[in-house]
Amino acid sequence: MLPIETNLNRIEKLSIQRENENFRFRSFLKGLDSRKVDRIVHRLHREITNQIDCLECGNCCHSLTPTVTSEEISHLAALENMDEETFEIQYLDIDQFQGSKFLKGLPCKYLNGKECTIYKDRPSDCHSYPHTHKWGFTRRTLSVISNYGICPIVFNILENLKIQLHYTDTPNK
Ligand code: SF4
Ligand code: SF4
Repeated sequence: MLPIETNLNRIEKLSIQRENENFRFRSFLKGLDSRKVDRIVHRLHREITNQIDCLECGNCCHSLTPTVTSEEISHLAALENMDEETFEIQYLDIDQFQGSKFLKGLPCKYLNGKECTIYKDRPSDCHSYPHTHKWGFTRRTLSVISNYGICPIVFNILENLKIQLHYTDTPNK
């Protein structure tokens, strides 16, 4: 078992305290073999997701607004017995830069307590969050740092990655 932190308040505080350290670690990662980093991250992802119960957390559904594809919009509108246009006006926003559509409002309208009420039908963006099973970790480090204070899986992967890579932080470098 890896040492892990799951207290959301502590994770949020540590993310503020360690912001500069995380950006220095980000620079450190850029100099490494990205496939090697991915292999370590994927192993940590498996071990840490086995130790964390998302049903006891639900913080991503309180903090982030998932993008939805056209097919998902059709499907979600049908679940609500709405036409797509009405569903979009009522429940979606558009990212002005990327043009993508996402569920508006926090916490997510589909969250009940800590449970997703459309779990089997949730958008693929929710399904794949926090994306740490994907390849290309060193190319996504900005998003990793922004999720570090939100998601215990990301927090613990990054902290354990520092240990596995024998990273020593040097603040004045
Ligand atoms: S759709 Fe479900 S999993 Fe996705 S943000 Fe909403 S409550 Fe969370
Ligand atoms: S993915 Fe992360 S933030 Fe979302 S419920 Fe699981 S541990 Fe919490």
